[in-house]
Amino acid sequence: MTTQERKAIPVPQVEPRATIPPQNLRVPGPTPVPQEVLDAQAAPMINHRGPEFSAIMKRVTPRLQYFFQTASPVLTYPASGTGAQECAVVNVFSPGDHVVSIIIGNFGTRLAKIAEAYGLNVSRIEFAWGEAADPAVVEARLKELAPYKGVLMTHNETSTGVTNDIQTLAALVRKLSPDALVVVDAVSSLSSLPLEMDPWDLDVVFTGSQKGWMIPPGIMMIAASERAWQAHKTSKLPRFYWDWSSTRKQLETSWQHPTTPPVSLFYALDVALEMMLAEGREAIFARHKKAGEYVRGRVQALGLQLLATDARYASNTVTAIKAPEGIETKALLKKLRESEHIVLADGQDHMKGKMFRIGHLGYFTDSDLEQTLDAVERHLKELGYQG
Ligand SMILES: *Cc1c(COP(=O)(O)O)cnc(C)c1O
Repeated sequence: MTTQERKAIPVPQVEPRATIPPQNLRVPGPTPVPQEVLDAQAAPMINHRGPEFSAIMKRVTPRLQYFFQTASPVLTYPASGTGAQECAVVNVFSPGDHVVSIIIGNFGTRLAKIAEAYGLNVSRIEFAWGEAADPAVVEARLKELAPYKGVLMTHNETSTGVTNDIQTLAALVRKLSPDALVVVDAVSSLSSLPLEMDPWDLDVVFTGSQKGWMIPPGIMMIAASERAWQAHKTSKLPRFYWDWSSTRKQLETSWQHPTTPPVSLFYALDVALEMMLAEGREAIFARHKKAGEYVRGRVQALGLQLLATDARYASNTVTAIKAPEGIETKALLKKLRESEHIVLADGQDHMKGKMFRIGHLGYFTDSDLEQTLDAVERHLKELGYQG
């Protein structure tokens, strides 16, 4: 192509910027951010190699360890939850390793696909959407599938509103294969639902800022047990950005990162963790439990069906509801968004249009949930739902 043939790109004609009106954002991430935390992000930029940034990391790191319940360093990376999934896989396994994936929905599938993309040999133990992993089924299958290097599992499956009994599943793996690594996706649960990394002997645990941490998307947090750090030493999957060794070294030598961190998000995390500690870990769990019970109670009182098949495993951070016969999820969500500024989530994958999800994690009040359920009730009736 000659210079004459190249077309200049004209100044684009785009929609003018408009203020987004306040919303009752009830999707399972991103979640609302308290005003104090939003304000913290407006602080001027600082040098990420300076003492001010190190001071933030020095506060944030032990507080994250407290929420993870681990003595291991909690590493942070600028990434979404999917980055955390990839980071977990590339740091402890080698090409061709056999791993078992326990899958109960879309995010479990994603983790298995990442492992396959990196050349691992993945065996799946799959359950229908809405079910939790049945420990008896998992035990029988694990016996057939041995030997394996690791077991990948989801704590809270955000696509189905189901929470696995990680403590029991992890104990099963430990009993059957003492050296296998237990890798837990806790993206939409850690901070909001009880999860104890060291007491439950979990090997790799990760989470994402935009779910239960009351800050915007952009930081993922990940921790590894001593067993996982040993595996890391001999693991041969390619990695550079995700490499735990360089991240840990930088944290331990200077309370910094090997690359430029999202500084403003760390301002936010610093304040959010302060607020979370003021509320108290157990109080946060109790608030989420109450929210889950309230939302499920209202949904069932309306005659609607939960996707979760067993109430014992219904999630306290996200409720997934089947769309009633003849009602399109899309129409309901559009009415709620346009007339009430209430934003709910559609189903994912094959359940798109067939269900909807209400997020109740991180920062919310009773009245946010009450307003949501009142509106769902009203708009379903307007759409012809008889209940
Ligand atoms: C949100 C989520 C992820 C990752 O999603 P991102 O959009 O990449 O942040 C992974 N696992 C679970 C369980 C999640 O809820």
